[in-house]
Amino acid sequence: MRTIYVCLGCAGQYLPPESMTYPSLEKTASPVHCGNPSCEAVVEDSLAMMGVPEDVVAKWARRAAGLDGEVRRPRSGRRSRGRRPGAAPASARSKLL
Ligand SMILES: [Zn+2]
Repeated sequence: MRTIYVCLGCAGQYLPPESMTYPSLEKTASPVHCGNPSCEAVVEDSLAMMGVPEDVVAKWARRAAGLDGEVRRPRSGRRSRGRRPGAAPASARSKLL
């Protein structure tokens, strides 16, 4: 089965050739952005800032889009349901006034 990738620039899904090259364009396909030059620029900048390898980021993107395994959702455990964090102590509250 071929891998569908998710562009981190436009969130589009794309299916590059299995060889990951476009021979007619003399270009290499990327696992993190589609062929749009503006996506390429944006994604390469953000990857440089993140410092995470692109194959790892590509996996996260596929998983978030539901293309790779189960979509991970936040656990609906006891913490998220209607419980407020504890009130600030009186001393902390008075500093806001
Ligand atoms: Zn794109």
